[in-house]
Amino acid sequence: GHGKEILSSEEMAGMITRMVFQVLESVRSSDNFGIVGIKSGGDVLARRIADEIAKHSGKKPDVGYLDITLYRDDLAQTQIADFPVVKGTEIGFDVAGRHIILVDDVVFTGRTVRAALDALTDFGRPSKISLAALIDRGHRELPVQPDFTGKSVPTALSESVQVNFRETAGADSVCIIKK
Ligand code: 5GP
Ligand code: MG
Repeated sequence: GHGKEILSSEEMAGMITRMVFQVLESVRSSDNFGIVGIKSGGDVLARRIADEIAKHSGKKPDVGYLDITLYRDDLAQTQIADFPVVKGTEIGFDVAGRHIILVDDVVFTGRTVRAALDALTDFGRPSKISLAALIDRGHRELPVQPDFTGKSVPTALSESVQVNFRETAGADSVCIIKK
């Protein structure tokens, strides 16, 4: 994409593979885990992680998706707030008693992850929830930290991170975009 490239396709693919091994290490030999990706971006990453786990372990893990959208609340002219709303869920397995690996491409304020945790626990009580994020761009507004991070990328609020996946963009790369 345009903007400054901070991860090449080789670097990004290598980082995802490293996260896959970290996830495998944390779930050990347990079959009792599932992967849940947050759309959009986290769903593509979740699918990639699941495919790589299948390659290494011979077993395809269960994968589900959460659709969480940021809404801008500008009811009051003086107060503009973004808040995440869970629009849809596609989780075709029982999360109760399972170790859930929650996956997103970028973690920023942490509000989307918080909404995802609410949505997940509405389905049942996972034995454990871990968070995997390819890019941590800082600026947290809630005490949410990934357990597995591809790369921490300090950003200005005036910048955003563009994550391109080969599955959807033709090639892997990460760029910093000035808004
Ligand atoms: P939050 O502020 O809730 O942590 O992030 C909001 C959501 O928007 C997350 O699902 C995250 O993937 C996405 N997001 C936040 N900042 C960026 C960014 O700079 N680039 C991309 N690609 N996604 C972002
Ligand atoms: Mg996203």
